[in-house]
Amino acid sequence: MVNTMDKHRIFTSDYISNAVNDIKKIKPDYSLLLDLYERIFIEQENSRNSISQVNPLVLTESISEKSKGQFPLVDISQLIIDGESSEKLFMEICGILLTAGNGVTESVRRAVDALESQTLRAKELFSAFIGGDESFLAIIAEKFNIDIQVLRFLIYNSLKPSLNMFSQGISGSLDEEKEWGEGFCPVCGSMPELSVFEENGKRSLLCGFCGYQWLSKRIYCPFCGNTDHETLQYFEIEGEEEYRVDVCEKCCRYIKTLDMKKTSRLVYLPLENVSTPYIDVRFKEMGYKAGNTVIE
Ligand SMILES: [Zn+2]
Ligand SMILES: [Zn+2]
Repeated sequence: MVNTMDKHRIFTSDYISNAVNDIKKIKPDYSLLLDLYERIFIEQENSRNSISQVNPLVLTESISEKSKGQFPLVDISQLIIDGESSEKLFMEICGILLTAGNGVTESVRRAVDALESQTLRAKELFSAFIGGDESFLAIIAEKFNIDIQVLRFLIYNSLKPSLNMFSQGISGSLDEEKEWGEGFCPVCGSMPELSVFEENGKRSLLCGFCGYQWLSKRIYCPFCGNTDHETLQYFEIEGEEEYRVDVCEKCCRYIKTLDMKKTSRLVYLPLENVSTPYIDVRFKEMGYKAGNTVIE
């Protein structure tokens, strides 16, 4: 039985490639996009081995107090990242995108030039992103003529392994067997990007920022806390019984749910959202909003 919440699972390059291939067989139209993500995800998993300095060794009193209540353990601005390995990963992801030769190439090339000539420092980008300094990012994007979404994509994906490892490290102070009663991530307070029905029938939510996964109530809108079954419903996706989309009529938001009992392919959770953009298009057209919008 596969439990997607098993933190000790290690995802090798082969595993990720096989998981991508399984999806490509079902969705050949997305092959090019999935090839890019395959390489990015592999670099991210590899990068975890070189990360240091993100282990929150000092469990402060305020954090141990917080773990008892209904507050996230930290603010996003308190997340610790490994600048050096993130910078290395930034350049690797740029390299991957440059070979793709698509619409983002020009922006990526300019980001690489700015970093290589040291007119731009990766560490400044990372602190602005973590600190929520959107105006700094906007100024940089304009100054170097880099598309802001591309810049955010590069920064976020470079930081992701650090964020994951930080949240894994600090989550030891949470009672992980218990359902978390809030819709936001118990570690960083961000909204979930995916919902999962595990094979044991439990529901979990995956943080759209730090990647932490927590147990949730089954009938529940994470975005507004609604538990009224009259205003919560789900839609099945034609031809893809492994997915359903849970929507809340109160706050008009949706979340994709992967049902592990109904899938027989290899599952690598970060792939689920990026391989289902057509679901987002459809539900946005129906008037619902995505729950998590770190990267559009
Ligand atoms: Zn989180
Ligand atoms: Zn809601």
